[in-house]
Amino acid sequence: MIEIPESTIISEQATKMLTGKVVSDVINATSPHRFAWFNGDAQRYPDLLIGKTVEGVKGYGSFIDICFDSEIHLTISDGTNMKYYTSVEKCPAKFQLLVAFEDGSYLVFTVAMYGNILAFRGKLDNAYYTGSIEKVSPMTETFDFSFFCRLIEGVKRDMSVKALLATEQRIPGLGNGVLQDILFNARIHPKRKISTLNAEDKQILFHSIKDTLSDMIVKGGRDTEKDFLGNAGRYRCILSKNTYAKPCVCCGSRLIKEAYLGGSVYYCPNCQH
Ligand SMILES: [Zn+2]
Repeated sequence: MIEIPESTIISEQATKMLTGKVVSDVINATSPHRFAWFNGDAQRYPDLLIGKTVEGVKGYGSFIDICFDSEIHLTISDGTNMKYYTSVEKCPAKFQLLVAFEDGSYLVFTVAMYGNILAFRGKLDNAYYTGSIEKVSPMTETFDFSFFCRLIEGVKRDMSVKALLATEQRIPGLGNGVLQDILFNARIHPKRKISTLNAEDKQILFHSIKDTLSDMIVKGGRDTEKDFLGNAGRYRCILSKNTYAKPCVCCGSRLIKEAYLGGSVYYCPNCQH
């Protein structure tokens, strides 16, 4: 899934590798997918994209936005995977969209469970997309401790910490994936009510958001996700689907996996309160 580390890393990689390339061909889905969402009719994507030059690639929250000349965009989010291939690499048989460039390189877009692949000119009428651009990213200086406290004060007191941080897109790109290590590093339970957080807890949680996300970005993304070239990141997730069967790295206790608020949460019942 695309969350803050992935949108940051992939947009940086893609900007370096794609800027200046001209689209020569667009091939629609070879493997139609019920939950691959396009902006209107995907059959018009070739008309929108062919002949356009990549001007840069931006990452916002859970979105990656390829910007072309003439205000054309190709934007992906959440569960869409975008991988870069050189002209000599073998093309996969199944994909939801392929964009080829004049130099023979190409991009392959695939969707696992669900995901957006949105081509458009000008502006996109999508609340999550505009929210990702307009809301304050936790990686900026504007997102400081007083900003974080105002965020907490702006929601219901009986809300849980997971609901605060990773639902309703309050913090764009902070999703259920990165949430797990943020809470583990803060030693805070995902179901903890925000009304029970004292000033010190809030400081610890604030710094864990900043530090955990920075660590993920510095290490090229999470090891559970792929980058623009299809390589896994070097940040080793403490809590993920790959690690929850192992004992807690801190105390050795058995970790818990539970379905909670749209997605599994993993936590150590001994370390996180
Ligand atoms: Zn533990």
